[in-house]
Parts: sequence; structure tokens; C-alpha cells
Amino acid sequence: MSRQILPDQDHPFLEIGRLIDNDSYERDRKKIELEDIVIDLIKIKEDNVVIGEVKKSSRAEESAKIQLAYYLYRLKEAGVIANGVLLFPKEKKRIQVELTPDLETELLKIINEIEITIKSDSPPPSKKIKYCTNCAYREFCWS
Ligand code: SF4
Repeated sequence: MSRQILPDQDHPFLEIGRLIDNDSYERDRKKIELEDIVIDLIKIKEDNVVIGEVKKSSRAEESAKIQLAYYLYRLKEAGVIANGVLLFPKEKKRIQVELTPDLETELLKIINEIEITIKSDSPPPSKKIKYCTNCAYREFCWS
């Protein structure tokens, strides 16, 4: 800054910083795109940042929780400490998600497993699971 070198003003994580810093700015947002992630909504109250992920149903609650944990982790890496909430409007249900050390460890283990799978020469053996029926990828997996 002292040498007039400014960060890329379009850098997606700067937008969250602006929302946090600017008291008069609209501090609740729907849909915010940060690099490769899309956060359904963000709410900032005083210094608390809460991000929300909206789901149609709580059937896949565990995977939704890991997805939100990943967003919280990415924000944390960018210097933004936030909490999360999973919202299931049709069921009038909401679940708080905090990136605890245990959840972060679980998340990093999953990321590591995904990286191993991506790097391997062949995919793991196929296995039908309950989600296959309505999965958009089922043509790739089972035809
Ligand atoms: S169809 Fe394929 S990608 Fe979809 S849940 Fe089943 S195994 Fe996973």
C-alpha cells in the first residue's frame, strides 16, 4: 500500500473483507462467489461472520456439513473466521456448523483421500450406494 501497490480489487476474498470492514455497506448478501466456491448467503453482525448453505432436504446432512466445513476452511485460510449454518427451508430446520479442530481434521483427511483418488491411474471399484438413484452422474457410473 505504501508503494501504491494495491491488491487485485476483484480478488473474491477481498469482497468479504469489504463487507466486514464497511459498517454502512449492505452486510447481508445472497450468493457470493469466491474463486471456485459459491456461498449461498453471508450474514455479518458486528464481528461475526456467518455463512449459510441452503439444501432442499436434510437427507444428505453429513455431506452438506462437510461441504460447509470446506467453505469455512477456505475462508479461514484467507484470514476470515466464520461460522456456518445449514438451512433446510422446506423442513424448517437449521443446523449450526463450527469448524472445530475435530471437524477440520476430518475434512483434511477427506481432502487427502480425494487427492489420492484423483492422482491414481484407475478409479476405485464401483459400488452402488443409496444416492446413485437420483445422482446426476449415474450415466457415467452405471451405463
Ligand atoms: S452415481 Fe456414481 S457419482 Fe453418483 S452417487 Fe452413485 S457412485 Fe457416486
